Amino acid sequence: MAGTYSVNTNLIAKLAELRITEKDIHACKLPAYEQSGNLVQAEDDMFGRTQLMTPATLTSWQNLKKAAQDEGITLLLVSAFRSIDYQCELIAAKLERGQKLSDILSVNAIPGFSEHHTGRALDINTPDCEPLSEAFEETPAFTWLEANASRYEFGLSFPRDNEFGISYEPWHWACRLLD
Ligand SMILES: [Zn+2]
Repeated sequence: MAGTYSVNTNLIAKLAELRITEKDIHACKLPAYEQSGNLVQAEDDMFGRTQLMTPATLTSWQNLKKAAQDEGITLLLVSAFRSIDYQCELIAAKLERGQKLSDILSVNAIPGFSEHHTGRALDINTPDCEPLSEAFEETPAFTWLEANASRYEFGLSFPRDNEFGISYEPWHWACRLLD
């Protein structure tokens, strides 16, 4: 992926403060994602936190959720937009608690490389399933999404054995529509 070459010097400096080196960046197969500046407020997530996403993603998400509900499937929002600064804070907090950077980067994308920066990526859950767990794959909600999400312009970003070399995320879906 050529995306790493568009990482700007400002971001490089922020990453250096987190002890993330250019070597780490080059080892990351995810593309660099632009942070969206076009966000609207969606419903609160399942933890009661305010969530933001792009206008087109919100419309698609509302249509997707309603279509699922009409077939008895409840889709819950876990998280949507995440800023690059917020991603930096998450990693800084873990470093302060003494976690190793390599361990942190196995579960948190390098700031600038999370699809959540685009405002088009949603983590989705359903009742009686632990959020962000591979068990989501076993739910009727996941089966429904696999069959229907593309009609609402959503796709699974990280299937098994994906080209980005990151773990399988059955809960993470992104809207293809650019605002
Ligand atoms: Zn996600």
